[in-house]
Formats: sequence, structure tokens, C-alpha cells
Amino acid sequence: MNRRFSIAIDGPAGAGKSSIARAVAERLGAMYLDTGAMYRAVGLYFLRMGRDADAKYVADSVGDVHISVKPEGGVQRILLNGEDVTEAIRTPEASLAASRVAAVPEVRERMVALQREIARGYSIVMDGRDIGTKVLPNATLKLYVTASPEVRAQRRHRELLLKGEDMPFEQVLSEIAERDYNDTHRAASPLVQAEDAQRLDTSEMTREQTLNEVERLFREAIGG
Ligand code: C5P
Repeated sequence: MNRRFSIAIDGPAGAGKSSIARAVAERLGAMYLDTGAMYRAVGLYFLRMGRDADAKYVADSVGDVHISVKPEGGVQRILLNGEDVTEAIRTPEASLAASRVAAVPEVRERMVALQREIARGYSIVMDGRDIGTKVLPNATLKLYVTASPEVRAQRRHRELLLKGEDMPFEQVLSEIAERDYNDTHRAASPLVQAEDAQRLDTSEMTREQTLNEVERLFREAIGG
């Protein structure tokens, strides 16, 4: 396909956005950008300092945090002030720190500018919380991917077990609930479904069904 396009995928934690976005990007030959990883890296920076809950400190010093992304063999590596933190950002602590710093307007401003800069010139699939509402308001296709909190917690729990982390299910569920609350109640770009986004509830869908549905919606959006 010659025309450039963009797909915005938003939704709550654990809905499967990034795995869908990555696979769709691959199918359509587009670049994939995981914007959550960028907030996680900022969160990790302040978590290491023990200041992730201090919004004023975060706002004042976010200028010291330099995030860059580097595609490598189909995987997006993420660098925090030059250090590769791709694996380090995938802990429950970094998830919570991400949702805390993501509520700080100065952090969002920097990340949104960086995301738009990365997107310039490419066909892209981006996933996050504010992609359709803020980052790519003119996206070719906007999706709001969701699933029930229990299903999302079950998926996260399974992922953690596969990594050898045996966190009690109740704790995974309560962390998902806390992040949902942070993401939907913050003043700066709260998580909401864009008016022109299509809602996709994946609670009862397999991965293959979801991917086929996204591809069908995309073909429909481009009129083909
Ligand atoms: O998508 P992921 O769970 O990796 O995102 C981590 C956190 O980063 C989210 O809970 C959310 O608070 C924040 N985030 C955001 N805006 C985005 C992507 C992520 O606020 N576009």
C-alpha cells in the first residue's frame, strides 16, 4: 500500500493493546510504537530516585529524562538516558510509577511531542491511552480495545507466571484497578474512548479473532 496511514489503539491496562498493535503493524508493514514503554521509562527514572509520587519534583526535573526508542529485530528497545531499560520497565512497580508520572502534564507534553516526531514520515501503529484523542487525532483508524478487569488481570497474571513471578491473583487485580483509576481520573488527558473510535471488547475473543477484526476494520476505514 502506498498511502501512509496511522492506527491509534487505546484502552485500559492489560487489554492486550500492545500485542495486538505489534501484530497488526507486522501484518500491514507499518512501524509500531509502544507509548506505554515511554511512560514506564520515565516512571522508572523517578522510581529509582524514590520520587515517583512527588508530582512537583517530577514536573520540575522531567527535563533531565531523555527517552529514545530503537527498533531492533522487530522489538522496540527503549533507552533511558542512554541505558537500555527494555526489560527493567516490565515490573509491577514500574507500571504503577508510570501511571503516576503519566498524570503530570509536563511529562505528557514531552512524551506527546516525542511520539509525534517519531511518527512523522511513517505508516505507524501506536498504542497507549491518548493516541486517538490527543497524539494522532487524524488517525486512519482509531480503536478502543478493552476487556473486563477480571479477564485483564487473568492475562497479566499468566504473563507474570510465565516470567517466573508468582504474584497472587488478587494483587494483580487490585493493581489493575488502581491503574484504571489513575488513568481515567487524572486531569491531563484521561483515558477516554475517542468519539470516532471503534470499541473492541476482547473478553470473549481469541487473539486471532481480534487481529482479523482489526484488519477488517482497517480495510473498511481505507475503503478497500
Ligand atoms: O500501556 P502500559 O501499561 O505499558 O502503560 C503504562 C502506563 O503509562 C499506563 O498505566 C498509563 O498511566 C501510562 N500511559 C499513558 N499514556 C499513554 C501510554 C501509557 O498515560 N499513551
